[in-house]
Amino acid sequence: MKIVILGSGVLGVTAAYELGRRGHDVTVIERQSESGAETSYANGGQLSYSHAEPWANSSVLPKLPKWLFRSDAPLVFRPRADWPMIRWGLGFLRNCTSTRAHVNAVNLLRLGLYSRQCMEALCRQTGIAFDFANRGILHIYGTEHDFDHARRQNEFQAKFGSEQKVLTREECFALEPALRVTSRSIVGGIHSFMDESGDAYLFCKNLAKIAAERHKVQFRYGIAVTQLRAENGRIVAVDTDQGELQADGYIMAMGSYSPLYLSPLGIRLPIYPMKGYSVTVAANDACPQLSITDGTYKIVFSRLGNRLRVAGTAEFAGYDTSINEKRVAPIVNASRALFPQAEWDHRLHTWACLRPSTPDGPPVLGRTPYSNLFLNTGHGTLGWTQAAGSAAIVSDIIEGKPPAVMLHGLTMERYV
Ligand SMILES: Cc1cc2nc3c(=O)[nH]c(=O)nc-3n(C[C@H](O)[C@H](O)[C@H](O)COP(=O)(O)OP(=O)(O)OC[C@H]3O[C@@H](n4cnc5c(N)ncnc54)[C@H](O)[C@@H]3O)c2cc1C
Repeated sequence: MKIVILGSGVLGVTAAYELGRRGHDVTVIERQSESGAETSYANGGQLSYSHAEPWANSSVLPKLPKWLFRSDAPLVFRPRADWPMIRWGLGFLRNCTSTRAHVNAVNLLRLGLYSRQCMEALCRQTGIAFDFANRGILHIYGTEHDFDHARRQNEFQAKFGSEQKVLTREECFALEPALRVTSRSIVGGIHSFMDESGDAYLFCKNLAKIAAERHKVQFRYGIAVTQLRAENGRIVAVDTDQGELQADGYIMAMGSYSPLYLSPLGIRLPIYPMKGYSVTVAANDACPQLSITDGTYKIVFSRLGNRLRVAGTAEFAGYDTSINEKRVAPIVNASRALFPQAEWDHRLHTWACLRPSTPDGPPVLGRTPYSNLFLNTGHGTLGWTQAAGSAAIVSDIIEGKPPAVMLHGLTMERYV
């Protein structure tokens, strides 16, 4: 089958590899000069398969009024007359009940655990290098309130196959000695020992090379999609700034930009750009070896070879990707308090980008009302984690096979 994939972030590249491996004739269209150059470029690096609690949950509601008025809050709304943002915000609030948050968590966990299996298979097949580490992720908590909430979530997830270990403060320090010098309060932690980390950009770059060399996938860089053309319930062509392309099947994987190109076709997905930042420094002996999630400040750390990456914050400000130092400062300050002897004054790189976020949390995979148009988008805060599982699911759907996991809560049907 001839398939055109729109977008070469981690979701597009992984689907291209999977479909190429299965013998399809795959072309990927990407406006940048390489794969993984936008949201997948410098993310938090965590393959957090067990992290299934969506941002929309009951613990967020009481914090929202305070966050709305603080520029250093983990989540910032910049209210304005922007209907997609208002629609997203209302959907987010609707999903903050504990019943909905539990349903969304189960759907996220199912996709996460399946992605772990698929990622393991992909690494075995390819031998791909991407500063991979499989020491797990340590979640730490600064208050009893946050720690209690996390323990309850852990007990809930355990019923659905998630395996994590609750640790005392001393056990956290024994597992990650770099935490011993922290000036921050740590009351306890949870070790997600099945989780992993790695550099998503290196993964994209190297997987694109493998897919091209071994499976003849064509990557066409520097080409911008302008519109999709439909007739009689099918996509007949994709128009680009360098002419049109035709295929048997099309996959939408343009991250936060996906809804802009789907809505002229009548497909209105509540995917909204949630801006985040990351800072990368050269790792020294005072840096953690384990990937860390700071559950109180909502920032994540990943050791990527000889670098330490910290990422966090969520800001709703449309498609603006400029770097606002006022939003970077809280990340650096919280990181400095946790690891005071790391090289925070000598940043290698500071970066901002847009998570393609849905209000409920899970991505949007699979079929659309157009028989040959498929979705692999809306992965929000977990796109790197869910890339391998999403690629296998979308490939199965295109081939007319039942996917290995239930699709409930992962398709666009939940929005219609
Ligand atoms: C600060 C931050 C930290 C994060 N940390 C983590 C983490 O630790 N773990 C995790 O799992 N996830 C994390 N994420 C989320 C993850 O990075 C994203 O979910 C994922 O990168 C989304 O990938 P994508 O392929 O959908 O989008 P993208 O990587 O943005 O790819 C979409 C591609 O489409 C291309 N494109 C767009 N429009 C057009 C057009 N008109 N024509 C041609 N090409 C086009 C873009 O150039 C881009 O390359 C983080 C995100 C951020 C911002």
